[in-house]
Amino acid sequence: MSEWWKDGLPFSCTQCGKCCHGRGEVANVNVNYAERQKMADFLDIKLAEFNRLYTRQNEDGHRLLRFVDGHCTFLEEAVCTIHEAKPVQCRTWPFWEELLESKDAYQKQVLDFCPGSDVETPVVSAESIRAQMEETEAALLDD
Ligand code: SF4
Ligand code: SF4
Repeated sequence: MSEWWKDGLPFSCTQCGKCCHGRGEVANVNVNYAERQKMADFLDIKLAEFNRLYTRQNEDGHRLLRFVDGHCTFLEEAVCTIHEAKPVQCRTWPFWEELLESKDAYQKQVLDFCPGSDVETPVVSAESIRAQMEETEAALLDD
């Protein structure tokens, strides 16, 4: 992948909550076993109950957060109610491989959508972007 973002990218989340809403294919928040356990602990419920109430399984058997009325069930008035325990994918957005694969993809899927990316500062370093991409990919590989 070309690192067109090698000088870093400006980003500062405005906490608008838009990225917690479904956008067709982009409505998928994968949650692996460790992430589900962390969220269940945070909510003080059993893992099986967490799975039943808050997740769905896709055709490959991977668990995803359940979205209702077009948004994640943990979103309340633009606030993530499980912020301290939210999955890696939520913490690292928009520094995902698929969004950074080209300037064009980043423009369409991030800059045109997320107000936090349309800023001048602070700049997230290439090193931090790389680390977040790797963390996201590793979380996706876990089941
Ligand atoms: S869309 Fe961007 S600014 Fe809004 S909550 Fe998501 S990351 Fe933050
Ligand atoms: S877990 Fe929190 S940050 Fe992630 S999609 Fe749901 S509300 Fe948004």
